Amino acid sequence: MTVAVKKLVLGLTTALASMGVAQAATFPEHSINMVVPFAAGGPTDNVARALGEAMRPALGQPIVIENKGGAGGSIGTAQVARAKPDGYNILLMHIGFSTAPSLYKKPGYDAINGMAPIGLVVDVPMTIIAREDFPPNNIQELVQYLKEHKDSVSLANAGIGAASHLCGTMLTQALGVDLLTVPYKGTAPAIADLMGKQVDVMCDQTTNTTQQIKSGKVKVYAVTSKQRVPTLPDVPTMQESGFKDFEVGIWHGMWAPKGTPQPVVDTLVKALQAGLANDEFQKRMATLGATVLTQDANPAALQAKVEQQVPQWGALFKKVGVEPQ
Ligand code: ASP
Repeated sequence: MTVAVKKLVLGLTTALASMGVAQAATFPEHSINMVVPFAAGGPTDNVARALGEAMRPALGQPIVIENKGGAGGSIGTAQVARAKPDGYNILLMHIGFSTAPSLYKKPGYDAINGMAPIGLVVDVPMTIIAREDFPPNNIQELVQYLKEHKDSVSLANAGIGAASHLCGTMLTQALGVDLLTVPYKGTAPAIADLMGKQVDVMCDQTTNTTQQIKSGKVKVYAVTSKQRVPTLPDVPTMQESGFKDFEVGIWHGMWAPKGTPQPVVDTLVKALQAGLANDEFQKRMATLGATVLTQDANPAALQAKVEQQVPQWGALFKKVGVEPQ
């Protein structure tokens, strides 16, 4: 390269970098696309829509939700990993972010090094539910029934790696039964089929099941949190029901693509923190049984969570013989 060409390249690089800084300083100038990697109207979507509204005042721009379901959430997650890293493409995903790397040969993203974490959002318990006319009336009867009818009971989930799949796998492992599983693009269509009596049983987050449980549209057997859920005080925990080690909480986080400029990440972190502090958001999450993770709404806490969970789930799947597909 001649000296003149080197100077030109250097000049262009500096100009592009300062353009990036200038754009970052005015971010956001228009709406932000937030991918929810599951169907609309489901548990993750419910959190995302409430959060998008709550973040709007801090951002001065709306957050538009894009539902991109499939493969337990890994399709939508991979879409954000590949998106332009300008802050206008972000992701709201949950625990499945850290399980897909052990469940898929090609998850389409690098959970540990391939994204820009923004922060943790909420933690949501799961409920074990069934269609309203499913014969067992409590968890002990459910155990017995599943053992006796394992060939005719169907278990709905939102695909391999989804929270409903993880919890469903824990349940069938704990009971020592194999059930026919029916995968959906999210638990919104799954619970619709459960209420329509097309499938029998599923595990789903309280952010999708609280109302249906309260109105008696589905039958509930247990919650998977350590303590009972305040909005479902009559529902026993799995541990109370005799499953000593059965505890799972579905943490949710927000990410941007790797390479998103630091000032843009900082703006998103501030907006996330403002959103989580919003009264309406807090009330809505409390109604749906979710805990708002205010203290951990920052990149370091989310990254630490992912780095702790990826190997932990990997070891667990290995132990129970689940191979990546
Ligand atoms: N959270 C998913 C949804 O929003 C379902 C799941 O993870 O099981 O549909």
